[in-house]
This record gives sequence, C-alpha cells and structure tokens, in this order.
Amino acid sequence: MVQLTDSFERKMDYLRMSVTDRCNFRCQYCMPEDIEFRDKSHILTLEEMLTFAEACLQLGVTKVRVTGGEPLVRRGVVWLVEQLKKLGFHEVTMTTNGFLLQENLDGLSEAGLDRINISLDTLQPEKFAFITRRNHFSKVWNAVMAALETPLSPVKINAVAMRGVNDDEIVDMAKLTFKYPIHVRFIELMPLNGDTDGSRFRSLFISGKEIVERASKELGELMEIEPEDPAAPADEFKFEGAPGTFGVITPVSEPFCARCSRLRLTADGKIHPCLLTDLDVPVKDAIRSPEPMPAIHEVLWRAARIKPPAGLTLPEESRSRTMSQIGG
Ligand code: SAM
Ligand code: SF4
Repeated sequence: MVQLTDSFERKMDYLRMSVTDRCNFRCQYCMPEDIEFRDKSHILTLEEMLTFAEACLQLGVTKVRVTGGEPLVRRGVVWLVEQLKKLGFHEVTMTTNGFLLQENLDGLSEAGLDRINISLDTLQPEKFAFITRRNHFSKVWNAVMAALETPLSPVKINAVAMRGVNDDEIVDMAKLTFKYPIHVRFIELMPLNGDTDGSRFRSLFISGKEIVERASKELGELMEIEPEDPAAPADEFKFEGAPGTFGVITPVSEPFCARCSRLRLTADGKIHPCLLTDLDVPVKDAIRSPEPMPAIHEVLWRAARIKPPAGLTLPEESRSRTMSQIGG
C-alpha cells in the first residue's frame, strides 16, 4: 500500500477529525464567550467525513481521533464511530469535554470506540465554572467515574496547565492515579485563543518539566514509561504501585514536530497539516466530486507536501483559528 508521507519523510498515519466547531463549553484558553460558529451549511455531513476518512485509510492512515469543538454535540457521532471502525481503522478514539458522555458511554462502547480522552482541568467545581464558563463539574466527574466501569477504562484525563489557575492541583490530579486506572496528562498551554499580545499567555504558561518536578517532589519518584507508539506526544510516568499513569504533553517547551504523524480535518472541510501554522488546504470540493477517492488523494498529497519541517517555534501571537476550529 502507498503510505502518505510528507516532504521530510514523516509518515502521516493519524487523522484528527473535527466533527463540529460548536461546543457546549467556552473554555477560556480555547474560545471567547461570544464566539461565532460557522453557519451549518458550511459544515461537512458525516457521510462526507467518512468518505474523507476512507480516502485517508487507503493511503495508510490507521488511526483516527474524533474531536471538535465538542464531538458529542454533533448528532450521529456514535454512528460515525461505528462506521469508522467498520471501514477498518485500527484505532478510533475520541476527545470530549465529558458533558454528554455518560449517556453516550454504552453507545460508544458498542460502536467499537477504542479509547476516550476526557478534558478536565480541575477537581474544584467553582474553578471548573471559571475555566469553562459553565457550571458542570459534577456531570463531567460522574462521566469519568462511569467510564471507568465500561470497556473504555482506563480513561485518559487531559488538563491544560495554567499558572495561578490550576497549578495548585498538580498533586491532587496526580493522586488520582493512585486511586483509579486513570492516565492524567497535563498539556502545556498553547497561545491559540485570540490572546494577541501574548502577555496573558506568558503569565499563565507552566512547563511540563516543572509539572513533573512538582508532582514527584510531593508524591515520590516518577518512573518513566516507554511509549508503545514512538509518535506519541506525551512523556508518561508512573508512581510506584499506582494503577494509573501521570504524564505531560509539551508542545511549547519540547515540540514533537520531528515525530509528528498527524493531519487534521476541520468540520468545514479543510486539511490542516500543522497546528502551528494557519496553512490549510480545502478538500470539500474533492469530497463532493464524482470520483472522490482520487480527488481526495491528490489533495492529501498536496497537504502533505506543505507540512512544514520540524523546528518551527510556536509564535506567541495567536493565529486566526482557535483550537476548537482546527480540531484539538
Ligand atoms: N471539546 C473537546 C474537549 O475539550 O476535549 C475536544 C476538542 S478540544 C479543542 C481538544 C483539546 O484541546 C482539549 O483537551 C483542550 O483542553 C485542548 N486545548 C484547547 N485549547 C488549548 C490551548 N490553548 N492550549 C492547550 N490545549 C488546548
Ligand atoms: Fe469546548 Fe473543548 Fe474548546 Fe473547551 S476545549 S471550549 S470543551 S472545544
């Protein structure tokens, strides 16, 4: 089989598909409260997304993550997961804010979802309301607990680290790994939210290295875990005897561009070959063409060719799209 690769011989085998730009939360680092979403007429249908995914599969893309916006606000997303599995992807995963997860757990498990990542930045309800601008901590926490009782266990929890906001909870979050089979990962904050002068970003940013040091200072030695997938972005550790793991994702302090295997599809039909730039390649016309497979392949190769080399530094000015639009 022909394998999609970029100009620097990085294999592109991981698709992150944003099924909607909409969301039921308004996390401060992700979108403004008054964000205007794309008119629904611009958004791909789920069938069109499947057509795109199939073309990717034919070029050696084996993993797909369903994301957004909030993927569970998109009607039919459980069906989409089932179809992606039927197409033959080795791994179909989802990233969600957890608000609509509990009622979808059975459906997602039956559809064959392989793994779930739940975004949860704090264990304190009031702080949760401050960060997400929505007062829904208990619903998300209940979904985390419920997910642990399903075939989707162990679950991953992703927390965006912010100095002065949730860095006082590094230890409490790490302690979850002693009690539950939960993989807690802190993600370095990225300047993607319309914060144009960068000063807010600089005051909030906290590095993965500092997070690991602070957790191990309080809770004991963290043993490094060899990643199963060499392209995995997280540095994973374990406390002795803990059923869960603790990790950091460091896109800012240690960008993983050299081993980046990702491509992103936006809900409005554009391929984003790199999160650090605004480069995108429209693919909607190709999907809607009479011979979609060769047309999409041609666009995929074009997108792969413009994927920038490793070594770009993340500019502190934000770009014109938010994470929710690109597909985090
Ligand atoms: N709504 C879903 C969720 O929150 O899990 C999926 C989409 S969200 C854009 C995907 C991930 O991107 C979340 O874990 C979120 O915390 C992360 N994210 C959003 N903006 C970010 C930023 N500025 N820096 C770092 N991570 C960010
Ligand atoms: Fe919504 Fe996820 Fe962005 Fe929060 S991080 S606003 S939950 S898309």
